[in-house]
Amino acid sequence: MSSYKVDPRTNRPILYLLDQKESLWKRFSEIYPNDMKRTVFMGRIEDGPYRYREDLGGLCSICAEYGYEVFDDLAKIIRLHVENLSVQNKLLQDVELIKRHMKREYVREISVKSNGHAEHDECIDHCLPYAFGECNKMHSIRCSHCPKLYSFFDKLESILPAEEIQLIDDKKEKLLHYLAHQTRKVYLNAQVQANLLELDNDGAILIVDYKMCILPKSAQESKSEFFGKKGWTLHSILIYTKSENEKLNVAAFDHWSADTRQDAWFTASSLHAVFEVMDNKPKWVTLISDNGPHYHNSEMMIIMAYWKDWYDIEVKSWIFLEAGEAKTAIDSHHAQIAHAIKRYVRIGFEIREGSDIENSIKDLCGTSVGEINPNREKTDKKIKSLVGISNMNEWKWPINGPFAGSIQARTLPNIGSFTNYSPIQTRNSSKIEITKPNPMISTPSVPKSLWTIPVPNSDTSSKHL
Ligand SMILES: [Zn+2]
Ligand SMILES: [Zn+2]
Ligand SMILES: [Zn+2]
Repeated sequence: MSSYKVDPRTNRPILYLLDQKESLWKRFSEIYPNDMKRTVFMGRIEDGPYRYREDLGGLCSICAEYGYEVFDDLAKIIRLHVENLSVQNKLLQDVELIKRHMKREYVREISVKSNGHAEHDECIDHCLPYAFGECNKMHSIRCSHCPKLYSFFDKLESILPAEEIQLIDDKKEKLLHYLAHQTRKVYLNAQVQANLLELDNDGAILIVDYKMCILPKSAQESKSEFFGKKGWTLHSILIYTKSENEKLNVAAFDHWSADTRQDAWFTASSLHAVFEVMDNKPKWVTLISDNGPHYHNSEMMIIMAYWKDWYDIEVKSWIFLEAGEAKTAIDSHHAQIAHAIKRYVRIGFEIREGSDIENSIKDLCGTSVGEINPNREKTDKKIKSLVGISNMNEWKWPINGPFAGSIQARTLPNIGSFTNYSPIQTRNSSKIEITKPNPMISTPSVPKSLWTIPVPNSDTSSKHL
């Protein structure tokens, strides 16, 4: 389909771009002229006000702001400035095509190997190692849709009045962020399956998530005493372990609390509560969560360095997925909880006390539920942020080798090199003594039935969404 040119240095054919202006390198170098590495670009998480998904009713904030809204804005700009109707229609059509491709087709086109590694693709637009700045192989194909994004903006900039160019550039940059977000999403979600496949008899995968607040509920919604109540936090920990007959065992630990501060201390206390009651503690664990501020923060990362001492558990890694985008079993667990509560109220009970939550969900299979109250007698002295933390999506706490005792982090799992935070660095960033959580916990309910799932299929490389 495309013609070739030979690289004068290597004498190997390189992809010849019919329109030199839309060189793939250009898309990154234009935005980051001072040679920002592409890995950094792909790992870049939007600064600015962090909107968590509660505000958006389940919609990820990056998708909302950088996906949906930008396409609407572009359509408005075109309608306003392009008077020739046939040109206008063509441009509006382009916007629709680009939107559909970025939203749906692109995420299916890129693929990740079952071991969680990025897989080279002959098509330069879909090669993940290339997008992450790690591919030396040849790319002989171009996607027929992906490059339209660049030619579209070139066309638009040639038509629109000069004073609109800045605005258009701004929209383009947002769409490139959106593209990076889509790419990270597919890659990171594939890590869930890859980690489950790596389970052995000594380890466990922990997927953790806060269910949004549970509010008091009654069949008669108008009852005045239900107004003004704060509700409860529900924190869920799913523990995956290997069982016989090629299945995985899932144990769900749900903690409810009137303490609605969802922070590192609550998270650490909830995890502590699970290990307190566990008979066969795993020798190693890997944690997976979204990158919400109650997990993805310096205090939490420093606390994890103590697990070997506190619980004799090696923390292999913590992998952060994009907020609101993790399509994991925890979503279906929370859907089951919501359903169970609804049913409980429909048959005449009320969610009046926290213990009502317990009664309504304790029969879900594999589920153990109890109350937790983190002790909050800590001082309010802050922990200094670990440098670069917001871009780091994979964390490790090695217990052997040259980096034993350090905290290590990198932008994406299996990509690039680690940043090391030495024990001295981490000690200096914390003015407070890190202490073992000591929460008040009730006796958790005992599940009546097991929850098992088949081991994910290793033959198919995972294509998502
Ligand atoms: Zn999103
Ligand atoms: Zn490649
Ligand atoms: Zn494509």
